[in-house]
Amino acid sequence: SSAVTSSSKIVLNLESLGSLPADEAGPLARYASTIQAQRHDYNGKVLSIRAEDLKSLAIIYDMSPDELTSRLIEWGVISAGMDSVVGFGGP
Ligand code: C2E
Ligand code: C2E
Ligand code: C2E
Repeated sequence: SSAVTSSSKIVLNLESLGSLPADEAGPLARYASTIQAQRHDYNGKVLSIRAEDLKSLAIIYDMSPDELTSRLIEWGVISAGMDSVVGFGGP
């Protein structure tokens, strides 16, 4: 349903996220922590989030969803071909 992420799941790399400076990545890190708590999912190296959540995060960061996606790739929090981040991509 989302134009931005219609074909790729958003999979956050939690190790990369944890190593970023808090002043930049803080809101995203808090958002991811909240989702982990809601799911009781604390053991993963990655966290799949909803496309809808990217829109909410874009508002928080005062960017378009596309701009935020580019920023997340720069930060190494998601990969450019997002399916490859967990190695189960494929056609
Ligand atoms: P909810 O939205 O009422 O979802 C209830 C349950 O339905 C979830 O329990 C999960 O088992 C399943 N579910 C709902 N949507 C999806 C989906 O897109 N994919 C998958 N795989 N399962 C889905 P769970 O995981 O224990 O989450 C409990 C509550 O925590 C959710 O209730 C929701 O309010 C919140 N939550 C969890 N993860 C996210 C997230 O990534 N984004 C947002 N916005 N809320 C989340
Ligand atoms: P896995 O846990 O062995 O899951 C393999 C595949 O089974 C997942 O591929 C997904 O297609 C399906 N699957 C597993 N659990 C669920 C579930 O609760 N709901 C639904 N709808 N499908 C499920 P996927 O999504 O490509 O993930 C590949 C691997 O990446 C997973 O292997 C897991 O190790 C990791 N992963 C991805 N997202 C998360 C996450 O949000 N939390 C954690 N802890 N690990 C994740
Ligand atoms: P989406 O909403 O963009 O969610 C993308 C992925 O984030 C899901 O892939 C799942 O790995 C994770 N996720 C999202 N919400 C939750 C949640 O509440 N709990 C957990 N444990 N994981 C969550 P998945 O499962 O392969 O689902 C792909 C798409 O299918 C979702 O994209 C959504 O559009 C739809 N979907 C799956 N389950 C549900 C559901 O229970 N309710 C609704 N409304 N849509 C669902």
